[in-house]
Order: sequence, then C-alpha cells, then structure tokens
Amino acid sequence: MKVKLYIFSLFAASLLVAFSSGPVQIESTTFLTALIIYLFFSIIYYNMRIFQKKGGTTTDYGISYSMSFALFTGPLGLLIYEFLYRLSSYIMQKSAKRADPDEFLHIFYNAGSFVLVHSAGYYLYQFLLPYFQPLPFGFWLLLILLVIITSFLTDFIISILFYLLGEITTREEAFHFFKDRSRLDMAKTSFTNGFLLLFLIEGRWELLVSLFILNYIVNQSFHTKTQSLQAKEERDKFRKMAYTDFLTGLYNRAFMDKKMEQLNQTKEQVGVIVADIDNFKRINDDYNHAAGDSVIRHFAQTLASTLSKDDYLFRSGGEEFAVFLRNRSFEEMAELAEKMRREVASGSAEAEFKGETTQISYTSSFGLYCFTISEKMPMEKAFIRADHLLIEAKRNGKNRVTAESPQPAAATVN
Ligand code: GH3
Ligand code: MG
Ligand code: MG
Repeated sequence: MKVKLYIFSLFAASLLVAFSSGPVQIESTTFLTALIIYLFFSIIYYNMRIFQKKGGTTTDYGISYSMSFALFTGPLGLLIYEFLYRLSSYIMQKSAKRADPDEFLHIFYNAGSFVLVHSAGYYLYQFLLPYFQPLPFGFWLLLILLVIITSFLTDFIISILFYLLGEITTREEAFHFFKDRSRLDMAKTSFTNGFLLLFLIEGRWELLVSLFILNYIVNQSFHTKTQSLQAKEERDKFRKMAYTDFLTGLYNRAFMDKKMEQLNQTKEQVGVIVADIDNFKRINDDYNHAAGDSVIRHFAQTLASTLSKDDYLFRSGGEEFAVFLRNRSFEEMAELAEKMRREVASGSAEAEFKGETTQISYTSSFGLYCFTISEKMPMEKAFIRADHLLIEAKRNGKNRVTAESPQPAAATVN
C-alpha cells in the first residue's frame, strides 16, 4: 500500500513538473521524428538489457537515452517519450510472459522517476551551460556531471522504493546500492547522450541513427563475447574437475593417461616413479578410514614439496602415486626418490582419532624407472616397469627405493 502510494506520488509529481514546464519548445515534426527514432531503438535495446533479480524486484542494467531526449525536448517531451517507452516495454514483457506480478506499476514508477530525475537534469543544464561552455570540453564535462547527479538521484529514488519494499533495512545496504554503480557505465551514458544531443540539435538524423546502430553493435559484440567467455570458463572448470582428485587436489589418473600420451610425442628423458604407502591397510584398520585419508593427504603433500614445477605428480589410485620427473640425470632422480622416502619416514601425518589429534608415522616404497621416450618404450610401458620395481622394493622389505635405468647414467645429453 505504502509502495503504491509512493509510486503514484512520484508519477503525479512528474505530471506536475512536465505540465508546468510549458509546451514542448521544438517544432512538431522534429519532435515526432526524434520520438520515433528514440522509441524504436530503446525498444530494440530493451531486449538486450541485462536483468538482475534483487530480492523480489528486477532491476535492469542498460544504457538510458532519456538524458539527451530530456535536454532536447524538455520535461513534457520527456514525459511523452518515457510513458510510451515504458508502456511498450510492459506490453513486451507481458507477451513474453516475463512480467512481474506488479509489472503494470513499473510503468508509473519508471516513467515517474525518470521524468523527475531528468527534468532536474534539464533545468540544471539550462542553468549551468553558460558557465561550462567557455571551458575546454565544457559541454562534455557538464554532461558527465549531469550523469553523476542524475544517477545519484535515480539511486536515491529507487533506494526509497526498496526501503518501502523491505529490501533495504540498514544504511549500509543503501550505501552499497550507490557504490555498485559502474563508473564505466556512467561514462558510456555521458558520451552517448552527449553525441545524441549534438546530433539532435543540428538535425543530423543520419548521424543520430548511426550512433544508435553503433551502440547496438558494440553492446551486442560485448554481450556475445561475455557469453562465450562464460561458456569457456564453465568448460574449463568441468575439465579441471574431471582431471582433479578430490581428496588431495592433485591430478588424477585420467590426467595422467592424457599426459602420458602427450609425452609420448617427445623424445624426452623422463623418470617415472610409482610410490606406495607401506602397510596402509593396517593404518585403515588400526585407526579408521578418515585417518587413512589424512595419511594419504600427508603423503601427497610430502611428495609435492620435493618436486619442481616441470615435474608432474598424480594420484594414480588409492594410496599409490605416480611422478614424472623431467630435466634431471638418473642420479638426481634416484637421489630425489630417496629424499622423498626419507622425508616420509622421518615425518608423521596429523589425524583426528577418537576426538583427539594423533600423529601417525608411516613409511613408503618407490619404484623409479629412468629412460628416454621412444616408440619402442612409450610412457605406458615405463609405468609398468616402475610398478614392477615398486613390487621389488616391497618384496625386499619396504621403506626403500628400487631404481633402474637401461642406459648408462652418462647418457644424459642436453
Ligand atoms: P603394501 O605395503 O604392500 O602396499 O600394503 P598395503 O596395506 O598398503 O596394501 P595395498 O596397497 O594393497 O592396500 C591398499 C588399501 O588402501 C586398500 C584400500 O582399502 C585402501 N584405500 C584405497 N583407497 C583409499 C582411500 O581413498 N582412503 C582410504 N582411507 N583407504 C583407501
Ligand atoms: Mg600400500
Ligand atoms: Mg597400493
């Protein structure tokens, strides 16, 4: 009820302002031409606006041409334009079945608030123009100033509406509302309306229409680009998810297979490590599955901390991990695997067990196979070799590294 009263007072006030401003000061054919062009393009753009739901109310972000129309025709002309424009938007929303339940009220709210705000802009323009005109870029500075003032007024009127609707309750929320306005949007509105006004004043109809079309093209291409960027982001996210192991955040087996295929195209010297936690079943049994998970995570972190950025680490399954080492000699690789083993054996994983934080010590075994990729020896084969070397390490008593390289160690050629 209060909301309706507010909206109708806004509209009544705008009628008062418009009719007391006297008749439209420009010739009627000029006025009609401008009105038709403005309505035509506003309605086309209406479908491009980006709608944003804020609570129960929909606000839209799109460029408004009301300022230049107001400055050209005055408050009464503006009222005619606004009313027709809002009425046709209403009809379009209605036929697209997108209308809010109180969409009809929006006509009066939008027409009322825009007429009031831009009539204020009109009078300010009349008053300030003589002061700004002598300045360099005075016209444009004045328009920027007017856009700032009218944006502020628009936000003020709308924040009262939201307050009455109960969607703004605190001063901070109202303040946020003002802060959200984009400076770029204001600049766009200033310059577009500035040019439109100059073309109107000089009766340059072709330029006027061209500017509207340019605006449409720029907006549309931006719109398309934004959408395709969003689509790409979405795809990347899914791809990332498909290649990520959720327990450790590392790459998963699927990514490992993909990486192996890629590496097969090269002739790199690579070290494949298969690393596995010793007696892990016992950890799961002595503690519980969640504690086991903590140990797996700790193992992953320990391995990751010894690697450099060119190496790859994957969770190849369960408590087994694979490492692809690059740009290193066989000795360096063997040393690194030994370092991993040592660090695991000397550290411990932190886990929650029976409501307390417990340290769990454990060991791990490693199979390392260092080789040069070729058609005869692709990554998949080397991975099987490394797995056999791991089994050997387990058989020989666990907590050890078994390494092998078919070439003499000095074969590293750079
Ligand atoms: P070994 O020293 O020979 O490696 O003995 P092990 O006990 O570690 O034996 P194995 O590697 O076969 O044990 C794997 C166990 O890991 C079996 C499975 O229940 C457990 N496991 C696999 N994935 C997970 C997991 O994500 N979380 C937990 N907590 N346990 C897992
Ligand atoms: Mg194991
Ligand atoms: Mg295992």
